[in-house]
Amino acid sequence: MRWKISGISSIQVGGKCIPLSTLWLKDRWGRRRRFRVSTFAGFDEKKHRSVPSWSQLARDEKGRIGALIVGAHHSGWLRIGSSKKIVPYLFVSLDALPKKVRRKLLIPIEYELIEEEDTIVAREKNPSPFYIASKNSKLFHEPGCWQAKRIKDEYKVIFKTRKEALEAGYTPHRVCGG
Ligand SMILES: [Zn+2]
Repeated sequence: MRWKISGISSIQVGGKCIPLSTLWLKDRWGRRRRFRVSTFAGFDEKKHRSVPSWSQLARDEKGRIGALIVGAHHSGWLRIGSSKKIVPYLFVSLDALPKKVRRKLLIPIEYELIEEEDTIVAREKNPSPFYIASKNSKLFHEPGCWQAKRIKDEYKVIFKTRKEALEAGYTPHRVCGG
């Protein structure tokens, strides 16, 4: 996967934006709790908005992978739970995300999970982009796709770019986007 500058210094982003409406964060007593996260259009807005926020895979300057949470469509602010405080963005560890969102976000990379100071982050195993296909099918996948992981080594075909895969007659897998 290619990482690109996020607009926030020292954080790069990649992959698709996945809507997100809850996060597991520590409350002020240090207990992990589920909080609602929503887009908040401006300081003067009185009513609570139900528009979920967006999450995207993010990597900090130390190579740790978590998620960057921003307002929907990259505009607006974030409101966490019923707190009065609103923030422009959040960089969270992977265990703050609901499992379904985490799984979707991690599809484009091959990763290993690491526990750091009781939070879970990921590290990329193979930083250069590549795609996986099988000799027995006409689909190609992102390296973290569960279908790609089921392809046995002897049937694996690796492409460095999407273009190469398309030119070889393969079609992107609908679920991971290939
Ligand atoms: Zn796939």
